[in-house]
Amino acid sequence: NKQVILKDYVSGFPKESDMLIKTSTVQLKVAEGSEAVLVKNLYLSCDPSMRGRMKISVGSYAESFKPGQILSGFGVGKVVDSGYANLKKGDLVWGITGWEEYTLIEQPNKLFKIHHTDVPLSYYTGILGMPGITAYSGFYEVCSPKKGESVYISAASGAVGQLVGQFAKLFGCYVVGSAGTKEKNKFGFDEAFNYKEEQDLDVALKRYFPEGIDIYFENVGGKMLDAVLLNMKLHGRIAVCGMISQYNLDKNEGIHNLTQLIFKRVRMQGFLALDYFHAYPKFLDTILPLVRENKIVYTEDIAEGIERGPAALIGIFSGENVGKQLVLVARD
Ligand code: NDP
Repeated sequence: NKQVILKDYVSGFPKESDMLIKTSTVQLKVAEGSEAVLVKNLYLSCDPSMRGRMKISVGSYAESFKPGQILSGFGVGKVVDSGYANLKKGDLVWGITGWEEYTLIEQPNKLFKIHHTDVPLSYYTGILGMPGITAYSGFYEVCSPKKGESVYISAASGAVGQLVGQFAKLFGCYVVGSAGTKEKNKFGFDEAFNYKEEQDLDVALKRYFPEGIDIYFENVGGKMLDAVLLNMKLHGRIAVCGMISQYNLDKNEGIHNLTQLIFKRVRMQGFLALDYFHAYPKFLDTILPLVRENKIVYTEDIAEGIERGPAALIGIFSGENVGKQLVLVARD
């Protein structure tokens, strides 16, 4: 059983050498009378939040990985043995699993059974899984959008950003996204720009939003947030989904323009996908037809083989991924 192990707590930018690939010879089995399930992992999701778990977390919702421990995160797998009444051998599931070829899952009630396989299975790490729920709840619930409003999305070509932009377009908003290369800006938004090529982000935002931003979907934080604050409209909303530019810093950067929240009566709200998992069936009913009818397109970046997991994971912190980054562990 090949496994990805965290060597030690990470400080600064994560490196491949912070992780180790180990082969365990321990035979995983569902013990007699236990409710565990043994899952063969097919796809593993590279999520920015995994970085926060590589250090001693302070006040976070997620527990740190321990040095010497197998990484864990969202993934898609096939049940190979089950002591749990609601899952049987051959069932496909998504949920939290180990970064390894096979995982013994002790709390199988937290897994989601996959019923629809006419769409790519890998989508359950993205559009049909946690990032999909994040984009959907973040946009419709947290942003309180109105037709015709101006929406700005940072990290707009990533797993979450590409969906938020498409939801906003379908909803009838004016949508601008930014990403770190020109090639990434291709999701049919009204405008897109490469933030790395802009000398002054405030000037760039004024170019695309001469009358201001109604909704900012925040994925990166730091300097971008500061520039956005100067460009929010009266009664604008900022949905704080993530702040990836801060995850590799020991201390968060200071934000200088927060008084704009008062002047413009802006609502800035953090949220977690986990709080919306209860609405997953309803989300799936909405999103599946859009996927099937190609009303929403979804771009993935698939690294093949668990050995490539560490490189794929750290790549998202330098924007190497084009679309949702995931790891193919096994095809079936
Ligand atoms: P992405 O697929 O968007 O990958 C991350 C992207 O962020 C990279 O491709 C890169 O793209 C950009 N990026 C990386 N480092 C920086 C930096 N220093 N400054 C600016 N941009 C950077 O990831 P996700 O879509 O999975 O996640 C997007 C955000 O949403 C993250 O902040 C994440 O933590 C958050 N999130 C929050 C959830 C919640 O429940 N609240 C759930 C899921 C995700 P580029 O080319 O644009 O630089």
